[in-house]
Amino acid sequence: MVIHHVQIGTADLYALQIWPVQQLPAADVLRTHDEAALAAHHARHPALSHRGGTLLNFTLHAFLIRHAGRTLLVDTGEPVTRNGAVLDWGLAALGVTPDDIDLVFLTHRDDDHVGGVLTPGGQPRFPRARYLMARHEAEGFRADPGRADQWRTTLGPLQDAGRLDLLDDGAEISPGLTTLPTPGHRPGATSLYLQDGGHSALLLADTLHVPLQVTHPDWSSVWDADPDQAAHTRTDVLTRAETQGGLLAVPHIPGAFGTVHRDSASGPLQWAPAGAVLTPAEPQPSVLAPGRVDHTGSG
Ligand SMILES: [Zn+2]
Repeated sequence: MVIHHVQIGTADLYALQIWPVQQLPAADVLRTHDEAALAAHHARHPALSHRGGTLLNFTLHAFLIRHAGRTLLVDTGEPVTRNGAVLDWGLAALGVTPDDIDLVFLTHRDDDHVGGVLTPGGQPRFPRARYLMARHEAEGFRADPGRADQWRTTLGPLQDAGRLDLLDDGAEISPGLTTLPTPGHRPGATSLYLQDGGHSALLLADTLHVPLQVTHPDWSSVWDADPDQAAHTRTDVLTRAETQGGLLAVPHIPGAFGTVHRDSASGPLQWAPAGAVLTPAEPQPSVLAPGRVDHTGSG
């Protein structure tokens, strides 16, 4: 478990790494790529790929926000029975108990993001929290026959218990924290925009999977349900990040936090890692299974 931290105005934003970093062949991640771009990416970011850039580093984070007297979790990672202990340990390392979580915002329906909402006994994992998801995404999830079992083991019990709030686009879930629809990866995938004191961060709902997509926003991932819409949304989000100079928080990129910039006015956008690594005390939990990249139900 690695924890990264950034300060956004008065907000503390933490990325809790749930999966070990793994190396995936570029063709297993991106629908489109070319060797020259992979090599150029590797030369710029040698820690983010291997074998000349042909293997891309990949992981999974959940995010914790402490802001305005509240403690919010953004996504819950996989089911507790699969790497759930990693998230528990990360929260404990930050002095956070399950009872401390006020809100749990869920970016989209995939199991690596909503899988950990319940305890193994089927109870809300964060006993005091309200659970929030964009209405469009939650209703699409519930109506998806291919995900009926997944709904029953994640959001279904929360909705039955009256613990799930469905959000309209642009909803303010906490002061300075609003939702931003980012469709494409999933139809209702929704990101969070955090603003405080002239600083901002955009916590993305798998709008990007690897930093190469900053330079090549038209390269959608193999897991994007609507690749054309995903590319359109990715371009919009990156334009917004460049214009506003805000931070991006990206669940599957090792280190999670970064900004975008151009080396020259006519050059392509580039990823620039940001944030500090926290090194909480041992012991770390054992990882029950290697981070899955089975994005049939995930991604
Ligand atoms: Zn994902």
